[in-house]
Order: sequence, then structure tokens, then C-alpha cells
Amino acid sequence: MDVIADNLLHVRSQIAEHAARHGRQPADVQLLAVSKTKPAEDIRAAHAAGQMRFGENYLQEALGKIQTLAELPLSWHFIGGIQGNKTRAIASHFDWVHTLASEKHAQRLDRQRPDELQPLNVCIQVNTSGEASKGGIEPDALGPLLRAIGGLKRLNIRGLMTLPAPSLHFEEQRQPFHLLRSLLEVHRADCPSLDTLSMGMSGDLEAAIAEGATIVRVGTAIFGPRNPPIP
Ligand SMILES: *Cc1c(COP(=O)(O)O)cnc(C)c1O
Repeated sequence: MDVIADNLLHVRSQIAEHAARHGRQPADVQLLAVSKTKPAEDIRAAHAAGQMRFGENYLQEALGKIQTLAELPLSWHFIGGIQGNKTRAIASHFDWVHTLASEKHAQRLDRQRPDELQPLNVCIQVNTSGEASKGGIEPDALGPLLRAIGGLKRLNIRGLMTLPAPSLHFEEQRQPFHLLRSLLEVHRADCPSLDTLSMGMSGDLEAAIAEGATIVRVGTAIFGPRNPPIP
């Protein structure tokens, strides 16, 4: 059997097992296949095995694959760092953005989202690991940011995302995810469109599912070790 199809089966069964162990419905945990550095053929193989949602970090590389695979009904999620001069391309070619962390970028994405497309789904990236942060806003800044961008009509503010400092210990892995979930519960009172927790990768999948992840972002466990970025 094709390696990617085989890996996908394995990841899906792991998601189902973790969900069952932690009292959740497997269908409430969506799998985002992170295809950064991988060629369009690998995405085609994953699609042939039933995968529809793909996450990409590097804009130029992603745009090439989106164009190559335009005939497939795929959903594209931008999960890389956002630069101001890239927002127009992100707003035009993606269905979701997981890494929003500034009001300025929100305003640009809102203004640049083409009228003929549905509002852009966005998650706000939150720094849940303090010093060891890989980006995102501080938890205290979440309320003010949500208030500032809540009125933007071309954005659908769906939830929160985090990329914690790596840890090998299950209980330690749970802490940042637990924080993200509490933040979602607190802010849902003012922002009812929040229904998404984007958290968990190949190495901390179970901890994320235990804490309520609704989208897990999995790369290596599906596509194998990463290649150097495609120029
Ligand atoms: C690369 C990446 C992933 C996937 O990581 P794996 O460890 O390969 O599963 C998930 N989320 C983000 C933001 C990434 O950059």
C-alpha cells in the first residue's frame, strides 16, 4: 500500500483511539495534513486516500501547489508566519488562516478578501509557553484583539491556535493546551463564533485531543520527515 495512505490510516486510527480514551467523538477532531516542503504529488496521494484539508507554511511554495492542484476540491489552511506584504495572496488563495496575531494583519486580510469568496476563517495564535514562544499574542491581549476585529465582515473569527514549546512529557504537553481551551471558553461569551481549537501535532496529538482540540495539524506522521523548503 502507498506509504502516505498507510500513514493517514494510522493517524486517523490514533485520533479515534485518543478521542475514545478522553471521552470525545472522533468526528469532532478534524485532521489538517501539513504538507509544507512536500511536493504536489504527495498531496494528490493524500487526497486519493480521502484527505481534503491541507496546511502550508511557506507562501510561495504553497501558491505553486494550490495552482497545480486547482482541479481538486481541497481546503487550504495557512499556518505560517504572516508578513504584511503577503496578506493579499493569503486572503485570495486560502480558506483558513491559523496564525493571525495582529490587528493590522486582520484589517488587511479583511480588506483584501475577494468579494466572491466566503469570509476567511481565522484563528488567533496565542503564546501559551511564555519565554519559549514560537509566536502569537499574549493571553492578556486576546480580549482587546477580539474586540478590535470582531466587526470585520470578511473575516470569520473561528478560534484559537497554539504552537507550544516541545515537550516529551504528557502532563507537560497538556498545560499549554489546557490554557488555550480555558481562553476559548472565557472569550466565547463575547465572541460566539469561536468554535475551534487548533492545537496538536505529530508529537503531542493525544495531549491536544485530551484538552479539546478540534483541528490537529499533522505533518511528519503523514508525509514523513520534511524536505528542505521548495524554493
Ligand atoms: C510544521 C507544522 C506542523 C506539523 O508538525 P509535525 O510535527 O510535522 O506534525 C503543525 N503546525 C505548524 C504551525 C507547523 O508549522
